[in-house]
Amino acid sequence: MTTTKSSTTTTCKLLVGGKWIESSAKEFIDVYNPSSGEVIARTPMGGMQDVDKAVQAASKAFIEWKEVPIVERARVMFRFKNLLEASYEELAKCVTREHGKTLPEARASVQRAIEVVEFACGIPSLFFGDAMANIATNVDCETIRHPIGVCAGIAPFNFPAMVPLWMYPIAITCGNTFVLKPSERVPLSSMMIAELLEKAGAPAGVLNIVHGGKDCVNALLEHPDIKAISFVGSTTIAKYIYEQGAKHGKRVQAAGGAKNHIIIMPDADMDHTAQALNASAFGCAGERCMAGSLAIPVGEAADVLMEKLVATASKMKVGRTDVEDKHPDMGPLITSEHLSKVRNMVEKGKSEGAEVLLDGRELKVQDAPNGFFLGPTIIDRAKPTMSVVQDEIFGPVLSVVRAKTIEDAINIGAQCPYGNGAVIFTESGKAAREFKHRFNAGMIGINVGVPASMAWFPFTGWNNSFYGDLHIQGKEGIQFYTQQKMTMTRWFGGGSLAEKFQDPVWKPRKS
Ligand code: NAD
Repeated sequence: MTTTKSSTTTTCKLLVGGKWIESSAKEFIDVYNPSSGEVIARTPMGGMQDVDKAVQAASKAFIEWKEVPIVERARVMFRFKNLLEASYEELAKCVTREHGKTLPEARASVQRAIEVVEFACGIPSLFFGDAMANIATNVDCETIRHPIGVCAGIAPFNFPAMVPLWMYPIAITCGNTFVLKPSERVPLSSMMIAELLEKAGAPAGVLNIVHGGKDCVNALLEHPDIKAISFVGSTTIAKYIYEQGAKHGKRVQAAGGAKNHIIIMPDADMDHTAQALNASAFGCAGERCMAGSLAIPVGEAADVLMEKLVATASKMKVGRTDVEDKHPDMGPLITSEHLSKVRNMVEKGKSEGAEVLLDGRELKVQDAPNGFFLGPTIIDRAKPTMSVVQDEIFGPVLSVVRAKTIEDAINIGAQCPYGNGAVIFTESGKAAREFKHRFNAGMIGINVGVPASMAWFPFTGWNNSFYGDLHIQGKEGIQFYTQQKMTMTRWFGGGSLAEKFQDPVWKPRKS
């Protein structure tokens, strides 16, 4: 039982040492179905008391879990993957219900989550250290990977199933135990997935779940028995997590917000580009850290692209995602507060002098008057210094800056404080090479609208999109969750090996 039912709403429980227990929190926040505006659960806003229980359980579990052979830990992941696949549809529905993405988008996010578990299944092949004989006479040297202890993960709202799974499958296969704090706005998918991990055979205490916001996060940052923190969320909080985590002696990987540039050269295939740009900007209602939120058409690309883009975007069907027979192209935003924030940012762009070519703010969804909907919005002729160009909006809003040359476009990127992703659409290898080499971002797409790293590669955000040294996922993920032990070995017994071979005890046997 992951929730308790009161007469009106269900309250999320904590997972501590294999048991679902009540939080000691006195405050709660509502979890909404963003399509209908209905409250579907309550999240307890826990603090140190809850965190300490979870860390104690994780510390206890670590003693045995770190000694379980890595192939057996990987076998838990194989079973976990099978269970996730068996629950694929149910999980996608849960993601849609608490987050609001369309069902196909939710399914894709669950698929991406499963891929991280597939990566974790292969960790034994990546767990090797190094070894070298005779680094000095008769001295050999080797490094062996060890887990680091109790690790914690703090997740954002926008991918309720996927982002937590970027973290703990890698951490626990490496031999660590884990305390997860899902976003207080979408706690339900994480709880459902934790039950599957338990069924897969993860011992009690290997994964624990706490709930809350700032106080809960601070308790994780300050707890002396947590060795490492993985964070994904907005830039302001990512920086805070990095600074506070480091202050308390922890390893930190903190992925932040983004503003992803999409450069369109005049020679690009405009029909494919308009479609890809549409999907990149408005997919998941723009609530993606890799959303293409700033288009920079170069030269004569602008007029033809804008016409196609407005035509495609204005045909998008926006509607509730929580009913079976509707198949909208886009769902709602996460909360009414976030909806207001996005609306205000559009208004600010307009007041700064940009042209709102397509305005989704007045959209009404007939069968969901209380849902948090905003239609696709396109803001043309923005200037590089405007807030709609500089700031992350995190909604279905595409800002457009028209550039004269590729040089100008690359320079706009150089002024951006973020650095998650950037894309070029072109038929020119030379332009693509120039862009790939020089653009100031960590994940590059060439004729690919959303170049988000898959599980086998690190999620390589740059600048204010990442704080830390080792990124989430891929081999960097394994490095983050392990420490190496170097052993230097010498055996005494007098003399060199050559002399020893003169000794009858050491003489090789003659067959
Ligand atoms: P957020 O920063 O508001 O919240 C993220 C987590 O931090 C949540 O668990 C929340 O409880 C906690 N938190 C919030 N305020 C806090 C505070 N004052 N002190 C301590 N902890 C606090 O982010 P969000 O709105 O949930 O998610 C959207 C953001 O996440 C966007 O900026 C998006 O770009 C980013 N994101 C980044 C990536 C990436 O890989 N770079 C991936 C997904 C989302």
